[in-house]
Amino acid sequence: MCMETIYFDNNATTPIADQVFEILVSTLQLGLKNPASQHGAGRQSRRQLELTRRQVEGLLGGNQQGSDDAIVFTSGGTEANNFALQGICASFPQRGRLIISGIEHPSVTAAAEMLEKDGWDLKVVNTLPSGKINLGHLDSLFNDETRLVSVMLANNETGVIQPITDVVAQCKNHGVLVHTDAVQAVGKMSVDFQQLGVDTLSLSAHKIHGPVGVGALLIKNGCPIAPVLHGGFQQNGLRPGTEACPLPIAFSKSLELYLNHQDANVSLLLDLQLRLENGVLGLFPAAVVVGQESPRLPQTSCISFPGVDRQALMMALDVAGVCCSTGSACASGSSEPSPVLIAMGLPEEVIEGAIRFSLSIFNTPAEVDSVVEILANILPLLSE
Ligand code: PLP
Repeated sequence: MCMETIYFDNNATTPIADQVFEILVSTLQLGLKNPASQHGAGRQSRRQLELTRRQVEGLLGGNQQGSDDAIVFTSGGTEANNFALQGICASFPQRGRLIISGIEHPSVTAAAEMLEKDGWDLKVVNTLPSGKINLGHLDSLFNDETRLVSVMLANNETGVIQPITDVVAQCKNHGVLVHTDAVQAVGKMSVDFQQLGVDTLSLSAHKIHGPVGVGALLIKNGCPIAPVLHGGFQQNGLRPGTEACPLPIAFSKSLELYLNHQDANVSLLLDLQLRLENGVLGLFPAAVVVGQESPRLPQTSCISFPGVDRQALMMALDVAGVCCSTGSACASGSSEPSPVLIAMGLPEEVIEGAIRFSLSIFNTPAEVDSVVEILANILPLLSE
């Protein structure tokens, strides 16, 4: 008998939407030419690519009132985050202070650590047990040499939405640039580049049913940023390399599809989240929904089962046909406890027993009920 897989690991990647797949294939079949070529076919690709740029910016509130923001397409969120941190820091003639939160995705943390090795003074903002960053601590970290602060819009493991408006206000007071990683937030909450007031914002297509291998960095008009890659003039010299036209075009489609139905999508996800968390808590009252008291993304439920080994639970769920994770996909190959939950200062038994369920608009209430039922069978076997 063939077992149906229940896919609850959508913060790692989402299945590509049919309409996005169709656009991707048809654009590939079209055989768009190199948009840097001077001939007519090349110029046609360029026109299509530039149109796509404007569409993505427009969907995210960039480039309003002739503000002339820029958008640079990248290979995904990891590259966009690296570009923001390394590119902004490289634009300053002297090294200074760089502040990041303690719950950033590894693509921010590792980029910041590289910069620290290169002489930057790296400071990490403390996190509260609620999952939000400690704004008082952030305020105490600014000095005259502070150049950039990086705080994500919403966390990929807990879903906790960060107080980015306050972060931006503090940064503007100190004349400091702000980068935000919006990879998990886009489509799951309102994201408006102008309203947020950040200087750069990173995106990734494969978290919203777009293709893997494409993302973007939105860059506010006037934000100093230097290229990280060298060897060409594409994308205004900020990200050289032949642009893979079909990928941004499919990315734009996924964004359009998702954002056109954002309210309905969010409400569907909230219903699934509530059903899952209530189902689990009803079954296992000692379970802890991490960050429950904070505003959270609707697709993410980090649930801890104190006394249960998260790795064993994740594997038992896998055997039962349920895909979930023990943390960020970039770290989930290891059994190391989650740096995010450690930064929140949660008790050890909560950290040890925490797994992440992340849902998508393609999941159903019936799947949620099946997962709760599977947990009811598995948990008694794994509890100490
Ligand atoms: N930032 C966050 C918050 C993420 O969750 C991820 C992926 O999980 C990334 C960045 C990296 O994005 P990509 O997989 O497109 O490189």
